[in-house]
Amino acid sequence: MEHSVPRIIPPSQCYSCGCQKFHKDERRVYTYQDYINNNTLMVQVHRRRYRCANCGTKQWDQICGASTYSRKTYRFIFWEASLSRNEKKFIHKNISL
Ligand SMILES: [Zn+2]
Repeated sequence: MEHSVPRIIPPSQCYSCGCQKFHKDERRVYTYQDYINNNTLMVQVHRRRYRCANCGTKQWDQICGASTYSRKTYRFIFWEASLSRNEKKFIHKNISL
């Protein structure tokens, strides 16, 4: 079983101009809900923003194995989807964000 998700992948090229050189910009810690070995837990991921050396467009690194929108790992989402309605209620009450 893979334990090192979510992973982050730096951008390979600017989506605006195609330039492949970036300057490192701000860092931010993102917290995701994860599900490992029958336990729900929060995992922290250090993400970084990059600034294109050519046009200045900023973009975040890509996150692999998790949904940035819902702040959940795919492993958590798949597990959550397998639960009944009452089980979900119970979990949302007991996980503090
Ligand atoms: Zn660019």
